[in-house]
Amino acid sequence: MATQIARTPDVEHGAAQHHDLFAVAVEQFHIAADVLGLDDDLRRILSRCQRELTVNFPVEMDDGSVQVFTGHRVHHNIGPGPAKGGFRYHQDVTLSEVKALAMWMTWKCAVVGLPYGGGKGGVTVNPKLLSSSEIQNLTRRYTAEIAAMIGPNKDIPAPDVNTNPQIMAWLMDTYSMIQGYSVPAVVTGKPLELGGSVGRSEATGRGCVFAIEEAAKSRNIDINKTKTVVQGFGNAGSVAARLIADLGSTVVAVSDSRGGIYNENGLDLRAVEAHKARTGSVVGYAEAQDVTNEQLLVLPCDILIPAAMENQITQANAGKISARLIAEAANGPTTPEADKILYDRGVLLLPDIFANAGGVTVSYFEWVQGLQAFPWTEEQVTERLRDIMQKSFHAIDTTAKHHSVHMRTAALVRAIERVAGFTKIRGIFP
Ligand code: GLU
Repeated sequence: MATQIARTPDVEHGAAQHHDLFAVAVEQFHIAADVLGLDDDLRRILSRCQRELTVNFPVEMDDGSVQVFTGHRVHHNIGPGPAKGGFRYHQDVTLSEVKALAMWMTWKCAVVGLPYGGGKGGVTVNPKLLSSSEIQNLTRRYTAEIAAMIGPNKDIPAPDVNTNPQIMAWLMDTYSMIQGYSVPAVVTGKPLELGGSVGRSEATGRGCVFAIEEAAKSRNIDINKTKTVVQGFGNAGSVAARLIADLGSTVVAVSDSRGGIYNENGLDLRAVEAHKARTGSVVGYAEAQDVTNEQLLVLPCDILIPAAMENQITQANAGKISARLIAEAANGPTTPEADKILYDRGVLLLPDIFANAGGVTVSYFEWVQGLQAFPWTEEQVTERLRDIMQKSFHAIDTTAKHHSVHMRTAALVRAIERVAGFTKIRGIFP
């Protein structure tokens, strides 16, 4: 059967079961493509990444030695517009992971209606072991290595795991030096001084909480009476925790890469932030008990926000999760087997390509403001973001009910339909 051949085009047999991330992304794609009745030609095109660049590059370290790092930049699809997506610095970065993240960016941009395709980048490095000047050297050389792929009309990088506005500034400066003039629109998530947008650094967490608010309203959940657990306390998780607490939820547990903390009566998030600023981790905060990241996911709560890494909610723990609402601020935290278990248990899961789309949405706002050289107010940014998250929730919810599928498949159905439309109408070159 042609469909069978197309199902796993360039991943090892059985890789999805072992949570090879690109295999997971391809599996999710085919589940939604089945619902859509997508033809084999489009499956063959959309289940592959269009461009994959791997670079090995030297960086001079503070002690004078030279280390060689490996990085990637991938474009999954550029049918709807320039590729868009962040780049991460993490010791576990692989090409398969970057490909999955690039594919998810295509669907993410499509599901909230942004005029972009999907891209992603990453360098295999633990940045916590590097000094600031080493990170600057690494960023500048990585930018130079991928410079042929990026540009304001080609591919616009942004922050992701362990990358931040300062790193975006170095990327922007390096790219601009190569071009010979300043190109602020080559990157989003920049510092405000360089043309960053107000509200961008909070956007992923804020968009996620807008999504939760709308979902809770639709299911008659009173947020004031809820308890929330947040896994991850970085760009997305720390903001989501603060904003859901502002809405009246009791945040009972948070974590970072070193572990979590739990207090069933609620955490004082300002004090937790101060503790983390002082010690480098939330772990050891006095007014709570320490828990592992595995224990954290199954703590008693109503709302769970995975805001850390991939493959956290799996077949092994999905049955033990007590939350009835899960909002994926991270990319890829849930495996396809876990999706099914949660759906069968009646848990409402807001999938990553929708729940964390606030980040790329405000990146889009930043790009538009940059191209027009016309900054918006914080209120304009927040209200336009709210509007997009609310409308997207209802569109996905309606599709989920129409096809009797979970929200991830529904979001993918909408996204794939849109991107397939570009391919069909544009036609195949030459
Ligand atoms: N890294 C973020 C994501 O995964 C933001 C991407 C962007 O703003 O381009 O959605």
